[in-house]
Amino acid sequence: MGISKTDFMRGMQCVKMLWLDKHKPNLKVIPPVVQKRLDAGNDFGDRAMAMFGDYEEMTVYRPGTTIPDTKAMVEKTKEHLAFGTPVICEAAFVNYNNYCAADILRKTETGYDFYEVKNSPGVYDQFIKDAGFQYYIMARCNVKIDRIYIVTHGTDEDNPFVLNDVTNDAKGYYNWINDHIWALNRMQKERNEINVEPGIQCTQPYECWSYEYCHKERE
Ligand code: SF4
Repeated sequence: MGISKTDFMRGMQCVKMLWLDKHKPNLKVIPPVVQKRLDAGNDFGDRAMAMFGDYEEMTVYRPGTTIPDTKAMVEKTKEHLAFGTPVICEAAFVNYNNYCAADILRKTETGYDFYEVKNSPGVYDQFIKDAGFQYYIMARCNVKIDRIYIVTHGTDEDNPFVLNDVTNDAKGYYNWINDHIWALNRMQKERNEINVEPGIQCTQPYECWSYEYCHKERE
């Protein structure tokens, strides 16, 4: 059990959130408005896959389910990288069980540019950290990443994909991620529930899906 991009971002917001995700996943209550936003994000991400024309998607599901088969995805990605496929979507990588699936990789003369798609009108620091985490995993898998872009949702619905170059900032998070990923890895495996007092982290930057559980505990 390693750390995924979502684990990392949630664990950095609150380690208890990460622990609950792993040990008490049934506590999660995703508000309908958030679920709607997640679904819209998935639709936008699906549309973005074709922004450079033809592409190969790495998603593989476990037979008879909609659960991604990450091992098969990693192997498929390796094959396409070796082959030099020009545009690879949902490219999957594992390093010491830590995992990411990059939205879009586009071949350059020296490696690949990486595009992280966000159904948002602007770029926020969370997005750059998110891209930085994926860069960290890919760099440790010896993939040469050139430029890093956050693809945001512009106002022209016929061509809504706006590219924001965040290369320096996202790559700049490498050491910060390395400083935290191993501790989060250990903490998520703790047998006993991690105790964290509710506070600002319960709603910032995102509302915690275990909010009810922690706040009920205090009543
Ligand atoms: S409600 Fe607050 S304290 Fe509880 S897991 Fe979520 S962020 Fe952490």
